Amino acid sequence: MGELMSTLARSVFRNSHHTTSDLRRSQAAKVWCGCLLGVLFTASAVRAQRSELKAPWNLDSPQADVQVGNQNADLMQKKLPLCNDPRADQYLTTLGMRLVAKLPTKGVQYPWEFHCVNDKSINAFALPGGYVFVNRGAIEAADNEAQLAAVMGHELSHVALRHGTAQASKAQFTQGAAGILGGLLGGSTGGQLLTQGVALGAGGLLLHYSRADETQADVMGTQVIYDAGYDPRAMAQFFEKLQAETKGKNPPQFLSDHPNPGNRVERVDQEIDKLGGPRPNARKDSAEFEAIKREVLALPAPKKVAPAIAAANSGPPPAPSGHYAEYSASSYSLKYPDNWGQSDDKNGATFVPPNGVLQGSDGQAALAYGMIVDLSPIQGDASNPDTLRTATQQLIQNLQHTNPNLKISRESGPVKLNGQPGLSTYLSNDSPAGGQETDWLITVVQPQGLLSFLCVAPQGAYSDYDKTFSTILDSVRLSK
Ligand SMILES: [Zn+2]
Repeated sequence: MGELMSTLARSVFRNSHHTTSDLRRSQAAKVWCGCLLGVLFTASAVRAQRSELKAPWNLDSPQADVQVGNQNADLMQKKLPLCNDPRADQYLTTLGMRLVAKLPTKGVQYPWEFHCVNDKSINAFALPGGYVFVNRGAIEAADNEAQLAAVMGHELSHVALRHGTAQASKAQFTQGAAGILGGLLGGSTGGQLLTQGVALGAGGLLLHYSRADETQADVMGTQVIYDAGYDPRAMAQFFEKLQAETKGKNPPQFLSDHPNPGNRVERVDQEIDKLGGPRPNARKDSAEFEAIKREVLALPAPKKVAPAIAAANSGPPPAPSGHYAEYSASSYSLKYPDNWGQSDDKNGATFVPPNGVLQGSDGQAALAYGMIVDLSPIQGDASNPDTLRTATQQLIQNLQHTNPNLKISRESGPVKLNGQPGLSTYLSNDSPAGGQETDWLITVVQPQGLLSFLCVAPQGAYSDYDKTFSTILDSVRLSK
């Protein structure tokens, strides 16, 4: 059985391009053993004795990594408080590219980007495709350049091993869902429409690594910093530092994004032994690192992070504030409770109370409370009075396509939105918070398309939000 398992596993993981038969074989392998999710180390007799790391099974091409990463990197740059310190970004880029030069990417050229984030927590994350964000807290906590190289080497390894999209592949494989983004964002009406900036917040979906992923990133990261000339013991030292921090009042975010696989330090030490121990002249620190560390330590305090990307799953949202903030887009404006977060892109906006986005047991992020405004194209003549009804029906059908449990609970009826004819429809769907949710949909035809306002709350809590949703809708001003 052991031999069969490793043969199957090798046949599955040999190539990064999978054929249908690879896929079928991987299914077979999955039936044979759950160990596919484990780390596959093969000690190579040819090259030194370092552990060889096989990227987990992945449905996507590396180009998909770049695409998903790129979209979300744009959103991240808008939402995260960046250091706005060109010297720090340049330093991270120089150090990062020195590590990338030693990173085994199987010939894939990623569009590497490195950004300093003005966040004091000890964290760093990399989006698929090579978009790396390093908190100032990680730079400040590192004792020397080798330790910062260690945390970055760990992140770069997640990119090279394509762990983000592999996790998504696994989720999709399990669900049998079609379309990778459908698989990522599916699960509820809110989930479908949720802008990815919310869905993929730090600690969110694509950064939900398994413990096996973590061990791989630790081991490859150790190899990479060793090959780049750094003292590999810095990897273990940095983790010991993180571990010590967990005893404080704010355990580092890094450890929730990158769960400790257990015996982390021992595994790193073991790899250092395999590499033949640290080189006598291994690099530990640099004057550049010390200068940048002083510089970020002197940066002004970070601005408040948008609550929409704060961590989820910490109890129901607080009551909507009675004070309202203004939001305006090109085709409308509205007011929303000022304790809610907001995120937008060119086709829509999402307004979410704190903790309004939940992470399901499948690791997917979905909106359980809040409002989603969307502008979708319509077929036909916008001035025809029937267009509102047909476009609304089309929108509901589209939603049902990705949310099979979505049902109309009250047929569309006429309403006025800012004096213009609209339709009000009540829907029900599975709530990410458990049980059913109520979705109140208001639609109105605009010259640019069908403008929809989808108000979402769990059925049991809906009456607490009804008044707030009405107040928001009453505040809507449509552009003429
Ligand atoms: Zn990790």
